[in-house]
Amino acid sequence: MAKRDYYEILGVPRNASQEEIKKAYRKMAIKYHPDKNPNNPEAEEKFKEAAEAYEVLSNPEKKQRYDQFGHEGLSGNGGFSGGGMNIEDIFANFGDIFGEDGPFSSFFGGHTGRGRAKRKGSNLRIKLKLTLEEIANGTEKKIKVKRHVACDACGGNGSKNGSSMKTCSTCNGTGQVKRVVETMLGRMMSSTTCHVCGGAGTMVGERCTVCNGTGTQEKEEIITIKVPAGVAEGMQLSMSGKGNFPPGGGVPGDLLILIEEAEDEVLKRDGNNIIYDLYISFTDAVFGTTVEIPTIDGKVRIKIEPGTQSGKILRLKNKGLKDVNSYHRGDQIIYVHVWTPQQLTKEEREILQKLQHSENFKPNPGKNEKSFFEKIREFF
Ligand SMILES: [Zn+2]
Ligand SMILES: [Zn+2]
Repeated sequence: MAKRDYYEILGVPRNASQEEIKKAYRKMAIKYHPDKNPNNPEAEEKFKEAAEAYEVLSNPEKKQRYDQFGHEGLSGNGGFSGGGMNIEDIFANFGDIFGEDGPFSSFFGGHTGRGRAKRKGSNLRIKLKLTLEEIANGTEKKIKVKRHVACDACGGNGSKNGSSMKTCSTCNGTGQVKRVVETMLGRMMSSTTCHVCGGAGTMVGERCTVCNGTGTQEKEEIITIKVPAGVAEGMQLSMSGKGNFPPGGGVPGDLLILIEEAEDEVLKRDGNNIIYDLYISFTDAVFGTTVEIPTIDGKVRIKIEPGTQSGKILRLKNKGLKDVNSYHRGDQIIYVHVWTPQQLTKEEREILQKLQHSENFKPNPGKNEKSFFEKIREFF
């Protein structure tokens, strides 16, 4: 069966704004909501269809692909493969369309078919300071983390020996509490997560004495964090399941690792490029020389041509940082500064005074001497 046009499904023009798309979807979702249309496969189909259309049209990237290539543009990666979303996915993804506290939030989010919620523990956040060398090569860090884990004695459910659980008397084990709400569409049955059992459907009978019924224990753990090369200040890595175990059982949250860069004394970072300030003596600038300079891969010798001017920019290709998302590597950029002596002996002073009015010492920049800013422009 040919797929219907997403704009047609939501009944909006192709140039509709995000606000209009959201509004249209909201209307459809209310109209065909499964709670309002029990045992109506046609309504359920419509409900799913609208959610699919909204999923695409509310996502700028998918919308663009769809606008350009139609349904074909979405098949494969990121598109809807096969049978589309099920009702649970729709609630999980779009339950917030009515807002956290709006009159429809409980009505929408608490669909009767959703069943027991799987509780997820809180995320843990840590900061990880890395040196330039660690960033350049990638690294493995062992970090001591204090986290809540499932209690050994009860396995995390908080009951004595893990076996003294009973059905929640408030929700009769369903994890949901039903109530009638007045909405602009009339009276509707709404269900919300049971506040007594938190949606699990079970309660602790006799408490575990080790964790006092919480199901969790605080534990210090050594966690090995693999950091890829090329990460940057402010990036966040996440390790799923390494956060806190939730009280009363469920799945642990995630460990979120915020990257910080320790400043390097010598090499400065500019995106994936490495900046190095090289100071050479006045005489080396005149006669030329070779100098050893540090890079993130170790020391490298470079040649300074005779007659090098202060402000010259040299580039070492591919001596910068690896891009964290590709195989591209930045460069090392060397700014050459000619050092002007600030203290002189009597003898040095006499020699230089003799040269002061020498013809070759008078600045005479030719067409080849670009200004500092022109050089910068040429390089970036
Ligand atoms: Zn316990
Ligand atoms: Zn309950």
